[in-house]
Amino acid sequence: MSDFSAARVLVVEDEPPQMELLAYNLEKEGFSVSRAIDGEEGLLCAEEVIPDIILLDWMLPNLSGIEVCRQLKRKKETSEIPVIMLTARGEETDRVRGLDTGADDYIVKPYSVTELMARVRATLRRARPSTAKQSLSYGELHVDLERHRVTYGEDTIKLGPTEFRLLVFLLEKPGRVWSREQLLDRVWGMNSDIDLRTVDVHVGRLRKALKQTGKTDPVRTIRGFGYSLDDD
Ligand code: CA
Repeated sequence: MSDFSAARVLVVEDEPPQMELLAYNLEKEGFSVSRAIDGEEGLLCAEEVIPDIILLDWMLPNLSGIEVCRQLKRKKETSEIPVIMLTARGEETDRVRGLDTGADDYIVKPYSVTELMARVRATLRRARPSTAKQSLSYGELHVDLERHRVTYGEDTIKLGPTEFRLLVFLLEKPGRVWSREQLLDRVWGMNSDIDLRTVDVHVGRLRKALKQTGKTDPVRTIRGFGYSLDDD
């Protein structure tokens, strides 16, 4: 699926054969996969990489999948990452408990790969508006994703490819605060060796282009941390 080709999946699973099966199928579909073999590693990975989605096994040693999910949902940095719980149990109470912890969906083992992939895509589509939508807006700011066109009120804005990606990314979650590390990671890509100041340079260019319309610059600087799309 080309629209999710850049999506990053964190798999938290302690059983190697299960992990291999999941990673193999996800990578075959073009996803980029990070692996964690227990709950603690899963929590660390989630904060380091900020995946687009987490597949979380229910039965993990030490820290259970439920507890991992609770902790993910409690932390600001990871609370919005969609989580699909993988569970071997199918009882109704367990299902409810799974969703009570903030999990976005659950899959009962043994699952079919086709079903799992469909769930992953559906969950990503709900969580990442830009992959399903043709346009994104924030106040008078409007991005036509199909035509790669940005307008602010009546004015059309010309942006470089990086500024465009940056704006689309910020528009997906207005008000959400992103650190410069997270922006570098999400907008430039996981393996980029780029200096953090590059983020400031491109945010600066984006702001300049937006301000040229004579309107307010909607990008907010969070001193010593990062940026968000927010005009108050
Ligand atoms: Ca397990």
